[in-house]
Amino acid sequence: MSRTIFAANWKMHHGPAAARELVRAVLSRTTPQEDRLLLFFPPAVSLTAVVEASRGRDDVAVGAQSIHWEPKGAFTGETSAGLAKDAGARWALVGHSERRHKFGETDAETGLKVAAALAAGLAPMLCVGETLAERQAGQMEAVVRRQLDAGVGELDASALSAVAIAYEPVWAIGTGVNATPEDAAAMHRAIRAWLRGRLGAAAPNPVLYGGSVSPGNAASLLAEREVDGVLVGGASLAAESWVAIVETACGVGGVG
Ligand code: PEP
Repeated sequence: MSRTIFAANWKMHHGPAAARELVRAVLSRTTPQEDRLLLFFPPAVSLTAVVEASRGRDDVAVGAQSIHWEPKGAFTGETSAGLAKDAGARWALVGHSERRHKFGETDAETGLKVAAALAAGLAPMLCVGETLAERQAGQMEAVVRRQLDAGVGELDASALSAVAIAYEPVWAIGTGVNATPEDAAAMHRAIRAWLRGRLGAAAPNPVLYGGSVSPGNAASLLAEREVDGVLVGGASLAAESWVAIVETACGVGGVG
């Protein structure tokens, strides 16, 4: 069955105590549904707290916000895919625009990270998206195709089938300006076309939208057939707005 994915990227917010409290608040106000997945991306130090707080809820999964591509070694401050998995993560975000633009993560590194996630048994969610200048120059589809080529273009069909894609236009992240549902759908069609070019018409990959999703716009974004879920930063940090997004948008999206 297809599931709508509601992914919460907490960025550098919520240590273990606050994370536990927020997850408990969200779960006490939502009932498990087979057609939706609640996915939390807490800071690495809070992975275990979120896993523990969501134990027993099959509709919840936890992921790392970033991983290193090496399995172990002298990489101070980094988290390998294996360490994230040990802490209870089942997913890994790769290539978030803040990683690309604030930490200089390259296209090539996203490919290494996706491969490392898969090797460790984590489901990668590759973030792609253009800057405002690239959109104004009409290059948005070319940019996203380049990011897909580098991030997941080398994978065989079975590995590629395990990857989720998040379309996150850089100009929409944390700005309060979301892509219109029509613009998001057009970019999702371009991403789906790339995936179908590799996997055929049955490409199973969820394609999420992210960028200033709020309780006020989630339903209209998810009403687009091409939008299989949302990746949310700011509005996922408090139970009230996060539950409002999950509940308002419930049942309108879904892979397939
Ligand atoms: C994000 O961090 O992935 C994001 C989409 O942030 P926001 O929802 O705050 O724009």
